[in-house]
Amino acid sequence: MMTIALIALGGNQGDVRRTAESALAQIGQHPAITVQRVSAWYSTESIGSAGRYWNAAAVVRTTLEPLELLDQLQQAELDHGRVRAGHWAPRTLDLDLVLYGERVINHPRLIVPHPLAWRRRFVLDPAVEIAGDFVHPISQCTLQQLLQRLMVRPLVVGVDLDQALWRVVWSQLPSTLRAEAEVVSSVSGEKAREVVVTFVASNHGERPFTVVVPADSSLAARSVADTLTAMLDCPIEILDESADR
Ligand code: AMP
Repeated sequence: MMTIALIALGGNQGDVRRTAESALAQIGQHPAITVQRVSAWYSTESIGSAGRYWNAAAVVRTTLEPLELLDQLQQAELDHGRVRAGHWAPRTLDLDLVLYGERVINHPRLIVPHPLAWRRRFVLDPAVEIAGDFVHPISQCTLQQLLQRLMVRPLVVGVDLDQALWRVVWSQLPSTLRAEAEVVSSVSGEKAREVVVTFVASNHGERPFTVVVPADSSLAARSVADTLTAMLDCPIEILDESADR
């Protein structure tokens, strides 16, 4: 059966755009895959010190099953110099299967919709450009609606964390994050080696985002900062609007 799938492309090493174009050409040569649309390239500052990230999205039509399509994406990554060195490691090319029609897949190798897509502007900005009306099958929102939710400012965040610890964490957060995120509730948590922080951001609708952080306040502050940064994402500039569609 023919299915429309959405792929997120990204990288921060070398000439990412050229690498990705070559990977897409390779994918498009597969007899069961047609690349239909490719977004412009978007650039963001990375959260760590890895330099700028480049991101785009592509819509493909395919008769491959989801895992077969993932195989093709991973092969293209390997053929284009991807070395799996760690989660946040620098990468020449990262290809994620964001949507496969409206299928929900929970397989050890493949989670679709991609779990991070709905709260990341660097995925949603390019995706909305070419597939804004695609429906996220869990939230039942279009990608356009998901993006709009991320743009609400100020971001209001509810936190479930021990009051005293939260005060320490909050005082250590970068001021830019503090300006963005307004904490609306802080209820008592557990005095344990790890605490569970649940963020409920107004722009995330009803879905809380939970992260386990170390109870050590300085480490907790780092984890919370990383989490909030991922939720808020960095401002994004469109660098090239005339890229191939
Ligand atoms: P990453 O390092 O972020 O590219 O993650 C790659 C790993 O995530 C691989 O082991 C994939 O099997 C797995 N994975 C799970 N869901 C997806 C998805 N929707 N798209 C791409 N890789 C996925």
